[in-house]
Amino acid sequence: MRTKLMPQKLVVVSLVYWVLLTYMVAALLWWFIALEKQNRDITQIRITELMKDDPAFETKYEAIIKAQKRKTTQYIGEGSTFLALILLGAVFVYRATRRQLKLSQQQQNFMMAITHELKTPIAVTQLNLETLQKRKLDEEKQQKLINNTLQEANRLNSLCNNILLASQLDAGNYLRGEEEVNLSDLAEGCVDDFRTRFPHRQIQEQITPSLYLNGEALLLQMLVNNLLENALKYSPKEKPVTIILAEVNDRIVLTVSDEGQGIPPQEKKRIFEKFYRAGDENTRKAKGTGLGLYLCRKIAENHKGYISVTDNSPSGSSFTVTFPLV
Ligand code: ADP
Repeated sequence: MRTKLMPQKLVVVSLVYWVLLTYMVAALLWWFIALEKQNRDITQIRITELMKDDPAFETKYEAIIKAQKRKTTQYIGEGSTFLALILLGAVFVYRATRRQLKLSQQQQNFMMAITHELKTPIAVTQLNLETLQKRKLDEEKQQKLINNTLQEANRLNSLCNNILLASQLDAGNYLRGEEEVNLSDLAEGCVDDFRTRFPHRQIQEQITPSLYLNGEALLLQMLVNNLLENALKYSPKEKPVTIILAEVNDRIVLTVSDEGQGIPPQEKKRIFEKFYRAGDENTRKAKGTGLGLYLCRKIAENHKGYISVTDNSPSGSSFTVTFPLV
């Protein structure tokens, strides 16, 4: 319902914008035509006032024509500068408005997604705990319910961490810790955690030991977790997910690849934007908020690194984060 309101708003804003712009350009053109006409009239009057038998007629006539031409050049110069300024302003306003509208649309989608994302784990946890309380279940079923509840609690935890960090980073008041982090151990820990959470998924790893980075362990953990989470979320259950951590050309390179649906070329740049989620809002199945990759980019940049995405072979995507070596 809400998402449908936005294009309407966009239509109204665009209409007002184009009307105003057309009016301004038309007014400018009219101004030029009127001034040019006035210029011609003045020239005409001055020529009529000239005495034909005046010995300096030719010189005076030429001076009048020259003055007319000078005026025309002046009007064209001033008019073009105005026009250029108006068009420059128009492009700026157009882009800023569109960006703002898009962001607010994505924010609305985010709010809807987050409500859903928060409610699901809470509802599942509540239901599981009630079942455990009311029924005498056998050991295996109990374990299953507890695992399921833990998974939901983990999801809720990472979601809250993502939201908190995003708002802190946006407010510009996040002071990153500075410690020597063993990225190899950290990545290993994340993989172990995911293997426990997703025992049926195949997570392959090639982690070079003892690779160190200056930064904050908590943030780097969020980065690795978000990438692994996405790789698992956007690829089929039977396909493996691979994490590689290596030193390449004096840099630390972390790659997380999957064999899922992949990302269309036109979306590759946009997925790192805040709240951006690829595909159609109404048909998308995977849960999410569009914050994960935005944070990954921010965290990478915060550690003097950068993140990029390429196609994996034979299918899927490969996210690579490159950091400078300590
Ligand atoms: P979300 O909460 O939607 O997963 P992200 O910021 O983590 O938000 O990712 C943004 C979008 O990028 C996702 O909605 C998804 O469309 C796309 N994406 C991210 N990771 C992958 C991946 N491994 N494979 C395919 N698409 C992905």
